[in-house]
Amino acid sequence: MADIRENEITETYGENVFNTRAMRNYLSEKAFASLTKTISQGTALDASIADEVAEAMKTWAIEKGATHFTHWFQPLTGTTAEKHDSFVTPDNEGGAVLRFSGKELIQGEPDASSFPSGGLRATFEARGYTGWDPTSPAFIKEGPNGCTLCIPTVFCGYHGEALDKKTPLLRSMDALNTQVCRLGKFFGIESAGKRAWATLGPEQEYFLIDKEYFDARLDLVQTGRTLFGRKPAKHQQMEDHYFGSIKTRVIAFMTDLDQQLWRHGVPSRTRHNEVCPAQFEIAPMFENLNLAVDHNMIVMETLRSVAEEHDFVCLLHEKPYAGVNGSGKHNNWSVCGPDGKNWLTPGDNPHENAKFLTMIVALMKAVDTHADLLRASVATAGNDHRLGANEAPPAIISIFLGEQLTDVIEQLEKGGASSSKAGGEIKVGVTSLPTLPRDATDRNRTSPFAFTGNKFEFRAVGSEQSCAGPNVVLNTIVTEALDEICTELDTAVAAGTKFNVALQALIIGLVKKHKRILFNGDNYTQAWVEEAARRGLPNLRKTPEALDAIVTDKAIKLFGKYKVLSEVEVRSRYAIYKTAYEEAVVIEARCAVTIARTQILPAVLTYQSDLAETINSVKAAGVQDVSPTLALLNEVCDLTGKLMAAIKHVEELEEGGKPLATLAGMAELRKYADTLEGLVADDLWPLPSYTEMLFMY
Ligand code: ADP
Ligand code: MG
Repeated sequence: MADIRENEITETYGENVFNTRAMRNYLSEKAFASLTKTISQGTALDASIADEVAEAMKTWAIEKGATHFTHWFQPLTGTTAEKHDSFVTPDNEGGAVLRFSGKELIQGEPDASSFPSGGLRATFEARGYTGWDPTSPAFIKEGPNGCTLCIPTVFCGYHGEALDKKTPLLRSMDALNTQVCRLGKFFGIESAGKRAWATLGPEQEYFLIDKEYFDARLDLVQTGRTLFGRKPAKHQQMEDHYFGSIKTRVIAFMTDLDQQLWRHGVPSRTRHNEVCPAQFEIAPMFENLNLAVDHNMIVMETLRSVAEEHDFVCLLHEKPYAGVNGSGKHNNWSVCGPDGKNWLTPGDNPHENAKFLTMIVALMKAVDTHADLLRASVATAGNDHRLGANEAPPAIISIFLGEQLTDVIEQLEKGGASSSKAGGEIKVGVTSLPTLPRDATDRNRTSPFAFTGNKFEFRAVGSEQSCAGPNVVLNTIVTEALDEICTELDTAVAAGTKFNVALQALIIGLVKKHKRILFNGDNYTQAWVEEAARRGLPNLRKTPEALDAIVTDKAIKLFGKYKVLSEVEVRSRYAIYKTAYEEAVVIEARCAVTIARTQILPAVLTYQSDLAETINSVKAAGVQDVSPTLALLNEVCDLTGKLMAAIKHVEELEEGGKPLATLAGMAELRKYADTLEGLVADDLWPLPSYTEMLFMY
């Protein structure tokens, strides 16, 4: 029995992907060898095989029911984009043939004028070019009446300016590859014909809501989060949802979701209930970063589409509900060296440990030097509601290394000769290092950037964000750190210092310089905020101030030096993210005003007249003392006045173009509305309640 089930899954796994298996079946041996070399080693694509690959892809796709193809790309909106073309070509005899050429595979020219370019491209030169990324396999997207062949591509302007998220990601992976291989040489690791790459396993949190409630909430439909809603008596206090048994309707959804993802070659692995009621998580097996980013985009899209099939709506916003946990995306990142090994795994011998510790101090150097940039990479309107809200990492970036590794680092700093907890001398690569902890059993959930045994987990990433941006930053800052480390080692060795001695001195120097970035304590406390200020660590609370880090001289130099983003590309991103933030706030403010004025206010006024009528009729019936009801009416009227004033105020603030003030005004407006929700008759209240949305599914 078990075999049959297993066969079913293994046979359908990746069936919608033009993967190695499909390539082997549909390509000649020569083309197959050439293409796989391009994919694994990053060598230039042999243009002469393009037609054959296109033909093979077409044949494969048509067998799967595809009628169209599209270049699938990731514009700076943070979502994915597709424009379909059919394979159908008239044959000049009144019929048609299905065609797909190498040229069409390799390059497309969508009219790009309506994508944000941040001033990179005037509309009169609106052409954008999409270019095939052979390292991420083409896949089939199923529609109700036919399928589409999706070809992952980069998206650039006429002069090669990156208009998307994939281009800089690939560039940053190239830069990282160069420096990782360079470091490898010091440790005798050969990289000829091989590559190093970053790996990523993104844990994705999300909420589900019954579609009927979603449709009744203009705020969710328009902004992705509830702008009003009184906190219910019971929400997440009992912590009875986290890892709890999964409701039937939800497990039915999750099962469908996994099966769809597996068919798309997305290695979905973990699923569970999260902390907040109606909140869940899905995590895949980690993969090559570029592929993992594409797969996460597919995961988000599939979450939404499968939810709909189950009469749910999937909420990916970072904070759909106030007062309870929001959603993040834990970005598990590591480096796979040209030797095929994880370089963030503590080794079995001093030599390997020296490499491991070099990587750890490189991360310390990178994160300490560019904490502001990492912070900026997760700055969005949605994530602002989550970061620092005592359930998610604060806006202060620090590194958690765990007790044992911190101990090792601290001893190194003291000179590297004292004994470790495990005994023995700590001298990198010279005398034996202690056995380093393989499993970081001590977990710190409050740290934004935590070492978790064999990888770093950047937890500040928002649930709705593309992983590309944060990882472009991560790759690039680590590239710079490794570059500077290698250069220093080169210089020392050239001057006659033994490598081990030079490395030892370098590691100690870096620990001393950057240890302020280490923090193992509780990141949620006020004490840490104060301590971080004493250490001089940046605390960029909200998006407007955080984004400024993108356009500092330091950042522009960094991205330019490693050819990840040119200055104009950097500035265009800054402009786009700033506008996106401001627009999000304007939309929320207008939506809040609409709901308050056209839904909440009428309900409240109806309740007022209900109360007034009650008072009159009760009086007429002979009751002398109507003062309790009158007091209630007064309270409702008083709040209504405040509500109306707050509506006007939000309008003024929004027109004034001050996002932070507007958000504060919206919070004030919400306070009155939520108080009224606790007073007005339930059957009059126009919006589904938090209890309904969080518990009734
Ligand atoms: P948690 O952090 O919730 O305890 P896990 O330890 O299982 O969960 O890992 C979370 C994610 O980290 C998974 O997606 C996993 O594949 C990923 N991961 C594990 N090893 C690596 C690695 N070397 N590089 C990147 N991601 C990794
Ligand atoms: Mg985790």
